[in-house]
Amino acid sequence: MVKVKSYAALQPDKPLDPYNINRRDINPDDVNIDILYCGVCHSDIHMARNEWNNTSIYPMVPGHEIIGKVKEVGSRVKKIKVGDTVGVGVYVDACEKCNNCNSGKDHYCEEGIVLTYNSYEYGTKNITYGGYSKSIVVKENYVIHIPSEMDLAKAAPLLCAGITTYSPLRHFKINNTHKVGIAGLGGLGHMGLKFASSFGADVVVFSTSDSKKEEAFDMGANHFVNINNSNEVRDHLNSCDYILDTVSANRDMGKVFSFLKTDGLIMLVGLPMEPLAISSFSLIDKRKGIVGSAIGSISETQEMINYCYEKNIYPEVELIPISKINEAFDRTINKDVRYRFVIDMSTL
Ligand code: NAP
Ligand code: ZN
Ligand code: ZN
Repeated sequence: MVKVKSYAALQPDKPLDPYNINRRDINPDDVNIDILYCGVCHSDIHMARNEWNNTSIYPMVPGHEIIGKVKEVGSRVKKIKVGDTVGVGVYVDACEKCNNCNSGKDHYCEEGIVLTYNSYEYGTKNITYGGYSKSIVVKENYVIHIPSEMDLAKAAPLLCAGITTYSPLRHFKINNTHKVGIAGLGGLGHMGLKFASSFGADVVVFSTSDSKKEEAFDMGANHFVNINNSNEVRDHLNSCDYILDTVSANRDMGKVFSFLKTDGLIMLVGLPMEPLAISSFSLIDKRKGIVGSAIGSISETQEMINYCYEKNIYPEVELIPISKINEAFDRTINKDVRYRFVIDMSTL
């Protein structure tokens, strides 16, 4: 065991504070990574504050948008060497035996994936701890190659916000024949906008105010709707083939469905606290549907990183020292983030 400096939540209603954790000694198929940057996902807030049905485990070290440099590799590690720049996303283990693991859908492992934090390592009571930390030990198979020429601070949010939006857009083969709505222009939403735009779609952003309008156009939006402006709403009713719904809070889902055209589909990735209230009438009228999507597989994450590298697609980030993490949580909840906080881990 090695003691490692981190920031942890010890209870749901208390701020995060400095905390020392124990990392396991490396196994033959592990790599040990010095963490350089870690993005701040809204899921970190939901989990640190125990907002999902009492599923939080304390002490909790959040963080699953990790970029770092490999400092040590186990004896059986083949694909990664000391000095490589790497990423770690939302999960660090899967059963590697089930139908989904054997068909490139390891993120939907039938045994349940081991999350980067707020999980137990398989068959143990060892809690996993995430990226708000100086270093992390991860099995080689769950580590993503990051080209070292990438802007590393900006690359961090790709490991969750990036893959979570890339995966459903790719699954439904979004292209220049589609009109795609992006509901919520936060960390996930702005990446969904950039990807949908790069795939050639006609993109409309649905936001709760006018404040992000200019930036939405700069990021590739073709249209912008303040959902509280009835004229703008009217112009886009019954018009979208797909809506990528990234909203982190409960709200009137009937309004979201109203923007879909016949046979349109909501791709749901946002995870509000309460169950969604969906009227049957929202679905039967014009045969509309809704489908959920969680992150993406390891191979798809690698594909997404390579795509971003090739196309020069990056999140918009605000770099913060770890001492500002509690403020960053509050600002994210208040929709005051443009568009992802990333922690500079040299400040820990
Ligand atoms: P975020 O940066 O806080 O963005 C959420 C956006 O939702 C806000 O910027 C805001 O957009 C909009 N919003 C917030 N409250 C709203 C309300 N009451 N009504 C309408 N819109 C509202 O969060 P994020 O990190 O992108 O995460 C978004 C959600 O996805 C979270 O619930 C997170 O847990 C979940 N998530 C899911 C997965 C997955 O695998 N499916 C992965 C990562 C995260 P505007 O300012 O434009 O109005
Ligand atoms: Zn996340
Ligand atoms: Zn499996």
